[in-house]
Order: sequence, then C-alpha cells, then structure tokens
Amino acid sequence: MENKEILRIFETTGALQNGHFLLTSGLHSPSYFQCALVLQYPEYREQLCREIVDFYQTEGESIDVVIAPAVGGIMVALEVGRQLGVRSIFAERENGKMCLRRGFSLDPGESVLIVEDVITTGGSVREVVELVEAVGSYIVGVGCIVNRSRGKLDLDVPVFAVYESRLLTYQPEKCPLCKQRIPLVKPGSRGLQ
Ligand SMILES: [Zn+2]
Repeated sequence: MENKEILRIFETTGALQNGHFLLTSGLHSPSYFQCALVLQYPEYREQLCREIVDFYQTEGESIDVVIAPAVGGIMVALEVGRQLGVRSIFAERENGKMCLRRGFSLDPGESVLIVEDVITTGGSVREVVELVEAVGSYIVGVGCIVNRSRGKLDLDVPVFAVYESRLLTYQPEKCPLCKQRIPLVKPGSRGLQ
C-alpha cells in the first residue's frame, strides 16, 4: 500500500489526531495514532495486516505463532495470525513485568513473529523480544502498523512497518506545546492538566 493511501485511511477513520498528547512512551507529541479506530474495520484490518504477512512471507520465513504486547497489539496479532493460519497470543504486564498469562505459552522450537500497532520508543516490543528470547524461541522479526521511532529503534531483530511516520515527538522537558500551555491529553482518558 502506498503511504498516501494509508494516511487517507487514518484520516478518514479519525485515527490520526492532532493536539498535545502524552504517549505511552512518556514522550509528548502534537499528533497521535489511535490505531484501534482503523483496526475496528475488517477491511482496513485485513489490508494493513496483509502488508506484514506479505513482507515476512516474501522473506521466506515460516511462522508458528504471532505474539503482541497487550493491549494495542492484540488486534494486529489476531488478524496476522488469522491470515497465516497460526496461533495468536499476547503478553501483558504483571507487577510491571511483561509475561504470558491465561495459560499462553511458547515452545523453544517455535518461530515467533512479534507484532504491535504503534511503535514509538519500542519499549513494550523490546520486553516481548526479551520474553521470547528467555524461552529460547526463534524470533522471525517484528511487524507493526505504524513506526514513530524515526530511525531510533534499537532492536536486534528485523523490523517491518506498514507506515513509517515522521511526525515529531518531544521529551516532556523540551516540549514546545507544554511551553505554550496547551492542555496535555492522555489518549483514551480525560485531560491530565
Ligand atoms: Zn508537552
């Protein structure tokens, strides 16, 4: 899919929002990708996740299981796993530590694809990489819908993004929107200040 087409989908579904946002990573940004607003539609979910599937199938990788960090990545994991015809599971935090719950497990002999909706600093994905490495499973790579890391993502595994965003993010202490006293919004909740 072309970037223009992807941006159009994000704009028409209201998933690309403008304002002053506190991202999960702790960074501030004038824009926010609420990927769930795109992924709620089966046709967009199918199209965007198909790009991840196509990329890794073209690479000739065999994939036994798809895993995502909860919560945003779950819809991506379900759709990618459905298209590949393999298991989809998710990792979640327990006492701050990313782990497998609900009886989910990985086998050391399995090839694992890690997926996420939006990557900003890659913190959650890195924790899932460590979790999978601890089990001893082979990591095929990471697939995400939007990559906001602007080339700063430092993972030892291949990363494929359906859309590479160049939108800015700021450290809170350097945020020009804070200096303008624009109210900070945590997406999905009410204003923080
Ligand atoms: Zn700010």
